Amino acid sequence: MKKIISTLLASCCLTSLIAQEVVVKGPDEKLQLVVSASPAEKPSYSITYNGKTMLEKSPLGMNTNIGDFVKGMKLTGHAVTPIDTVYHQDRIKTSKVHYQANELICNFENPKGQKIDVVFRVSNHDVAFRYTLPRQDGKGSVTVTAEETGFRFPQQTTTFLCPQSDAMIGWKRTKPSYEEEYKADAPMSDRSQYGHGYTFPCLFRIGDDGWVLVSETGVDSRYCGSRLSDVSEGNLYTVAFPMAAENNGNGTSAPAFALPGATPWRTITVGETLKPIVETTVIWDVVRPLYETKHDYRFGRGTWSWILWQDGSINYDDQVRYIDFAAAMGYEYALIDNWWDTNIGRDRMKSLIEYARSKGVELFLWYSSSGYWNDIEQGPVNHMDNAIIRKREMKWLQSLGVKGIKVDFFGGDKQETMRLYEDILSDADDHGLMVIFHGCTIPRGWERMYPNYVGSEAVLASENMVFGQHFCDEEAFNACLHPFIRNVVGCMEFGGCFLNKRLNRNNDGGTTRRTTDIFQLATTILFQNPVQNFALAPNNLKDASPVCVDYMKTVPTTWDETRFIDGYPGKYVVLARRHGDTWYLAAVNAGKEIVKLKLDLDMFAGKIVSLYKDDKKWRTSTCDVESKRKRKSATGNPSTGRCCIGEQLDDISFGCEFGINTLIPNSHFYLLFTCGLVATVFIVQ
Ligand code: CA
Repeated sequence: MKKIISTLLASCCLTSLIAQEVVVKGPDEKLQLVVSASPAEKPSYSITYNGKTMLEKSPLGMNTNIGDFVKGMKLTGHAVTPIDTVYHQDRIKTSKVHYQANELICNFENPKGQKIDVVFRVSNHDVAFRYTLPRQDGKGSVTVTAEETGFRFPQQTTTFLCPQSDAMIGWKRTKPSYEEEYKADAPMSDRSQYGHGYTFPCLFRIGDDGWVLVSETGVDSRYCGSRLSDVSEGNLYTVAFPMAAENNGNGTSAPAFALPGATPWRTITVGETLKPIVETTVIWDVVRPLYETKHDYRFGRGTWSWILWQDGSINYDDQVRYIDFAAAMGYEYALIDNWWDTNIGRDRMKSLIEYARSKGVELFLWYSSSGYWNDIEQGPVNHMDNAIIRKREMKWLQSLGVKGIKVDFFGGDKQETMRLYEDILSDADDHGLMVIFHGCTIPRGWERMYPNYVGSEAVLASENMVFGQHFCDEEAFNACLHPFIRNVVGCMEFGGCFLNKRLNRNNDGGTTRRTTDIFQLATTILFQNPVQNFALAPNNLKDASPVCVDYMKTVPTTWDETRFIDGYPGKYVVLARRHGDTWYLAAVNAGKEIVKLKLDLDMFAGKIVSLYKDDKKWRTSTCDVESKRKRKSATGNPSTGRCCIGEQLDDISFGCEFGINTLIPNSHFYLLFTCGLVATVFIVQ
């Protein structure tokens, strides 16, 4: 009798094990997700691409104050539904997205009969998933004390990660703000710099099998921003909540929401190459606009005195100079940074705004987010953290015709701070204001969720190059990371493109820029944000190459299409973006060695190309001519920068360090990078 029972049990277990594994594939069937549950283990999922393991069995589930959704979970049912939809989205890497995926809903039940669903969306290169909880046992709200959600990588994996900093450190105790330094190709065994794991997005190289980018989206006032833990045994990274010390210790680390309700989506982008990583739209595919706007927000370029002229420039006369400079460049905006409330004063701001408008330039004004979460004294303070004062202030801004605000120095990633981001965005839209965040977290689907959101810093941005030489020295390395990591998942308000060689007011002191002018131009393509406040200065009209200034007058800030061409994070990148019918292609190399590439550039076939490149002495050169005659003269004298690319060109060489060896329509294209820190920009019309 005893023997029969155990056989039965074994058979039950076997049956349940078989029954409790669900497989779903992406539309082209290369990406495969397996979800499994057995009473003895945590529920889990794993991901393969073309049969290669990208994520090993990784845990699912969460602990909450209404029940344990980790132990003894049973998979009680599942359903698969195809999704096929097209949406349009301005201000991201592409303007039209065709999203096709298979949605898998897995119904789980814990031993007490409490229910939780895990909703997966599997497209050709992305898996997104989130938890949804119904009302249960009469309970209408839940606090999530910890998530089990994890990402377990194969042994051969190396990492490209940005550490989470300690809380309440740095300038006026404003960290964390996603401004730490990445390590490239680090072993998984490395510990994070501060011992707090890593901020999203997190890039992993699965040896020679491919790449995985992990991030999250759909985070609004109903959850906290999460991050990845340090690695634990078995190469497992788990979702971690904000640190208790963030936001000056105020607010809980544990998110809470009403039932029925859902967590944010966690996203896993998978590619055999880096192309699906760079081009992914999963961050926006799975979210929806949270409100409609009646305003027609116009994106564009801006000047920004603070980046080079710093606090001393926040006075009426210097702002007039930068407004005039914006007008001379044909830019839409000027950004007036901190201290305008006291150094210019509210009354004179009115006449300054009128002056700007008379020049066809609109304004963004800076605010501190504070609050009780840092020591910021730069004004205006204490206008954005309180709904009553905030709405009064925004009403005033709207009455003056201000078009946007830049809100700085947020307190971290707790749900309380996520609610502040959302409240600022929502109130700002009521007053026709666009919003840029600085000293902040990464956006998490916000380009689609909030119609007046236009960018976040959340990167070691241009200001650091002014603050310290180290960041100038590392500029090329960092620029070759962002198109693969930070900027993949959202707008990046970098504030770049210096044409000053020395990063101070008079272009004669301070830190020294290590990269070339053309490198700077290339970053306008590499770094995507719909409102770009460039780091140009009025003196550049006189001391910079007219070629560069003319380019900067015409460069767009929105893109219809983005294509990864080639590259390796931290080493070099070749990226193309299309604006209307015009392709822009940027190629930059962070290394000291020449990189020779064979590139497939079908967008160039049969087209006239304008080429901006560094010559042998790192000077600017350009070409926009198409005749063979001129081409020949260019070949003989590369340092003059007269050169051309057009139809039926071959055997073109621009010198020993940089050269385009062949260009045949509909064929391959050879590009030879010069040594170190140089760049090339192509524009094809
Ligand atoms: Ca900053």
